[in-house]
Amino acid sequence: MERVKLAIVGAGPAGIACGIEAKIAQIEPVVIFEKASHICDTVVRLFRPGKRVDAVYQGIEVAPIGVCRFETESKEAFLERMQRWVEEYSLDVRLNCEVNYIKKVETGYELTVNGTPQVCADFVIIAIGIFGKPKKPDYPIPKEVKDRVFFEPPHICPVGGKVLVVGGGDTACEVACFLCKNCEVYISYRRPQFFRINPINLKILEEKVTEGKIKLLLATDIEKLEANEDGRVKVCFKEGRVDTFDYVYYCLGGSTPKGFLKYIGVEFDAEDRPIVDEYYETNLPGVFLAGDIAVPKGTIQLAFNTAHIIIKRIQEKYLSQR
Ligand SMILES: Cc1cc2nc3c(=O)[nH]c(=O)nc-3n(C[C@H](O)[C@H](O)[C@H](O)COP(=O)(O)OP(=O)(O)OC[C@H]3O[C@@H](n4cnc5c(N)ncnc54)[C@H](O)[C@@H]3O)c2cc1C
Repeated sequence: MERVKLAIVGAGPAGIACGIEAKIAQIEPVVIFEKASHICDTVVRLFRPGKRVDAVYQGIEVAPIGVCRFETESKEAFLERMQRWVEEYSLDVRLNCEVNYIKKVETGYELTVNGTPQVCADFVIIAIGIFGKPKKPDYPIPKEVKDRVFFEPPHICPVGGKVLVVGGGDTACEVACFLCKNCEVYISYRRPQFFRINPINLKILEEKVTEGKIKLLLATDIEKLEANEDGRVKVCFKEGRVDTFDYVYYCLGGSTPKGFLKYIGVEFDAEDRPIVDEYYETNLPGVFLAGDIAVPKGTIQLAFNTAHIIIKRIQEKYLSQR
């Protein structure tokens, strides 16, 4: 069994920032396990080519407190930056390595990777994000229209058709603006107006609405989806409106991977959020949550900041007396 001081699960912005902060704090050896074949899978998979990676996202503005920080830049520049950091700080990132289980043993925590117990660590940081599991609506999606309903933003714009985007955050707004190049786009959002949206996104959206390329269905809530006779998606709104679309894109965010966290023994509160203290330590001593799974609403800069707080805490609470 390989022995390390710190095992990090997930090589997204939070996991990589934890690796960097640990390197600077001279905590070693550190290993980062990533289940995908590349780092930053959420950015790679869900951000379309050329997407702006905003330093202030969903209206959440946080000052950087650690070494990791960035200015708004393209998806490609951001991924290059992350790869450069991995190399500059010589991080030991192991790709295609999914952590399936974490168990308390006498000498620390044993991590099962791709089905085999592989590493024993003094400390574990779980930085697996929330986008492995996109949030879905409560009502069922009829099987006849499953290939017309999507829960991830598109990378390619359909060549035409009538499209419904569901959601009111930055992602819904960006998806609508992207799709309206070729399609007739509607946005359905439950609130009467957009909330905490990035000002650049809002400006672009307003322009598209004025040009008639996007139509807003604000203060609308979907009751159910049905298959229309022509195979398209019939959308029934609670307000009584019924409309038919070629495609529906849900942009509702992600959800905490509760199954994994509960399975390894992390406790949850009454609102079903994992319980962490102010340093993001769970009820399992020495096991921390970083990034999106640690905070109510995540952003990349917030993920970087959680990494700084956790590593400082490990040093001060556990390592300073040694
Ligand atoms: C479409 C979209 C647009 C966004 N735009 C912005 C923006 O402009 N600006 C901004 O600040 N934020 C944006 N966000 C939010 C941002 O992506 C997240 O806040 C950020 O990625 C959180 O980083 P993280 O490291 O916590 O999680 P993630 O980035 O989700 O990384 C988690 C990593 O863990 C890996 N993993 C998961 N499970 C395991 C396992 N069991 N074993 C090993 N590895 C595992 C995953 O493969 C992944 O690489 C956007 C999100 C979406 C979906």
